[in-house]
Amino acid sequence: MTNLIILGPPGAGKGTQSKQLEKKLNVIQLSTGDMLRAEVASGSDLGQDAKGIMDVGGLVSDDLIIGMISKRVGQKECANGFILDGFPRTVPQAEALSEMLANKSLKLDYVIELTVNDEAMVERICGRYTCSKCGAGYHESFQKPAEDGVCDKCGGKDFSRRADDNAKTVRARLEAYHEQTAPISTFYAEIGILKQVDGMMSIEDVTHQLENIVS
Ligand code: AMP
Repeated sequence: MTNLIILGPPGAGKGTQSKQLEKKLNVIQLSTGDMLRAEVASGSDLGQDAKGIMDVGGLVSDDLIIGMISKRVGQKECANGFILDGFPRTVPQAEALSEMLANKSLKLDYVIELTVNDEAMVERICGRYTCSKCGAGYHESFQKPAEDGVCDKCGGKDFSRRADDNAKTVRARLEAYHEQTAPISTFYAEIGILKQVDGMMSIEDVTHQLENIVS
């Protein structure tokens, strides 16, 4: 079993790299952002509460997020382990996670932070889009499909962008990151399990470094 956290600001490549590691380690990616977007799309009460906050780049309440994650960690789908992507995002969330894992006799194997240059993140995020059919990720400048307008993976021709991937919201998300999430790397450095990888390298090079850490 391998349990890990991928840390880093919006646009650092957490989702992209989690998907690579998910295959390599045969574990499951738990992305709180994806869970919230699914709640928003379903129109649930939780989704309606979260939407207004997500649209302006703020953070959803710790209680709501901790409740959502505690329903998933320790379930059958996590039997081989998990990759947390987008969680924890505040020190109280990190503390709640430690307690949750201790109660289930689970432990974290790695916390890996992707370090990046903030200014580059706005361009990275504002150019990204996904295939509506299979979820494959693309970027207008850095990762185009081989044939314009056709998904490499499934041939789909419909693509979508996240509602919060616009310059104004991205700046608010980066600010929330520095204020509330950055202290988490100190939290994990102090317990001796933090590793850092340069997230400005190419997708392939970052994957390679992550694989070296976990293998
Ligand atoms: P992400 O997909 O990780 O960029 O998350 C998208 C948005 O969902 C964030 O900007 C927050 O509004 C919300 N969100 C996701 N994960 C968390 C979390 N762990 N704590 C608080 N808010 C979150």
